[in-house]
Amino acid sequence: MEIFADPMLVEVLTGIGGLKSLDVVRILRTKGEISDYNLAQVMGLSWNKARGILYRLYDRNVVGFEKRKDEKTEKLMYYWRLNEAKLSHILVERRRQTINILREKLMHETHENLFSCDTGCTRVPFENAFEMEFSCPDCGDRLDMVDNSFVAEEINSYIDHMEEAISSWT
Ligand SMILES: [Zn+2]
Repeated sequence: MEIFADPMLVEVLTGIGGLKSLDVVRILRTKGEISDYNLAQVMGLSWNKARGILYRLYDRNVVGFEKRKDEKTEKLMYYWRLNEAKLSHILVERRRQTINILREKLMHETHENLFSCDTGCTRVPFENAFEMEFSCPDCGDRLDMVDNSFVAEEINSYIDHMEEAISSWT
């Protein structure tokens, strides 16, 4: 899958190794295996920078390496590979977390009568609205009961979307 087609993958990778880690992963995917020396060349980075990104990805087990002698130079080199399974595992975990948060929000939205002002700066259950004397603490407008069927529908479709994404990865 193209990296930028999956916003969560972009977020996860940049979170681990910064923006350049997107290029690293793309290159590893295309080449299968590459030495950090060559990777630095391909990316136009210093050797240290390239290794820095690789180490951070390695720290999360997203890449692995093998130490081998270069056939021509006889020098010991580190050859890096992408751990695609681990990467999708991280993504699945992230999506599950998001789904759990959404489910909680959905429960909150559908099992309680929520009160909000017109602008929506406050969104609270009845007892809080009661304490606030049905007046928004931010804008002062009246707090009315919210019709949250639309919100619930939206959250539901988002959860469906996420679950689809998970099943496409596993
Ligand atoms: Zn308000």
